[in-house]
Amino acid sequence: MKNSRPSVMRPHGLPESASHPVVTPLSPSVVYASETPDALDDQYEGRVHGYTYSREGHPNADVIARRLDDMEGATGGVVTGSGMAAVSAVLLGLLKTGDHVIGGDQLYGRSLRLMKEDLPRLGIETSLANPGDVAAMRAAIRPETRMILVEAVSNPTLAVADIAGIAALCREHDLLMVVDNTFTTPRAFRPFEHGADIVIHSVTKLLAGHSDVMLGYVVAKDPALNDRMRVFCVTTGMTGSPFDCWLAERGLLSFDLRFDRAEATAARLADCLAALPGVKRVIYPNRTDHPDHARAADLLQGRGCNMVSFELNGGRDAANAFTRAAEGLSFAPTLGDVGTTLSHPASSSHRALTADHRARLGLHEGFFRVSVGLEDPDALCAIFVQAVAAATS
Ligand SMILES: *Cc1c(COP(=O)(O)O)cnc(C)c1O
Repeated sequence: MKNSRPSVMRPHGLPESASHPVVTPLSPSVVYASETPDALDDQYEGRVHGYTYSREGHPNADVIARRLDDMEGATGGVVTGSGMAAVSAVLLGLLKTGDHVIGGDQLYGRSLRLMKEDLPRLGIETSLANPGDVAAMRAAIRPETRMILVEAVSNPTLAVADIAGIAALCREHDLLMVVDNTFTTPRAFRPFEHGADIVIHSVTKLLAGHSDVMLGYVVAKDPALNDRMRVFCVTTGMTGSPFDCWLAERGLLSFDLRFDRAEATAARLADCLAALPGVKRVIYPNRTDHPDHARAADLLQGRGCNMVSFELNGGRDAANAFTRAAEGLSFAPTLGDVGTTLSHPASSSHRALTADHRARLGLHEGFFRVSVGLEDPDALCAIFVQAVAAATS
């Protein structure tokens, strides 16, 4: 019965093995033990690398941060607990009272809310302008303006920003150009090659890709900005958990293949929808009938995205009938999942807007945004053909 070793004593490290695991080990440890106070000094002073406390950093976050850095052609990016934490790291971690920031007028809903509700409360002034209209962006600039935040392809109308024009404007006025690259991903668009200073991702979406991880990532060209955002995230507790990072690494291993497949199927689905009598219009940047087609071709160099929007003939009744008839497709407000998902802006992401404002954006009751997944393309198109017919006949 007698045991001189208390049962809670932990082993130091794993059992020895001459071989090594092919999968990155999951390291859920919150704390890391050091040899001596001198050794800890060495770590804190940066003479050696080591972990101390997982909110400050852990191996699984670093593994995906370096992978995401490579994808964006950057170094020193920060993994955050969500895409919104990454947006917050930029806006709250870099701006101060008295500053002014300009955002695209069709940013992700929560980013818009942060701009409209939270920043002004802290004395940071904000303006929104159409990122396809550089003159409008220019008109919004004030002496206090510090940055412009845009998405290259906007949600859900898939309008394409004038990235070259905005980059020139930012250089001219010494503003930070921030691009949320969630929709386009580095597979289709690498913002640093187009003048961006900071790139944001919701890793939750296409990058992790399985709707089982919530994470974000932000990286600046300037290492000093990365340091400031990292410290802000550590202090406010916005860094990502080891398990989420571990799962995201697994998702990233197949990201290129998933993106290419979904992109090809999306182009196919857009053409298929455009041929249906029950469909009023289809929005896909690579189609020649897209209003920003030339800009999309120039910016994305022939690449596309996995998002297709379209408008059914008919109102809410047709929309209800469509989601009911779209068998096997999730009617769920996300994107980038392995399965195709449907979003209905009028009842979800854009429900807070007035009907008038929605109409100006073209978001009528028949409007759907489709995030194309990895289903067989023929089978997927057949589901849409059948559901559109059921909803509009
Ligand atoms: C989803 C999304 C976000 C927010 O990401 P979360 O991981 O949900 O916090 C930000 N920007 C865009 C473009 C998004 O689609």
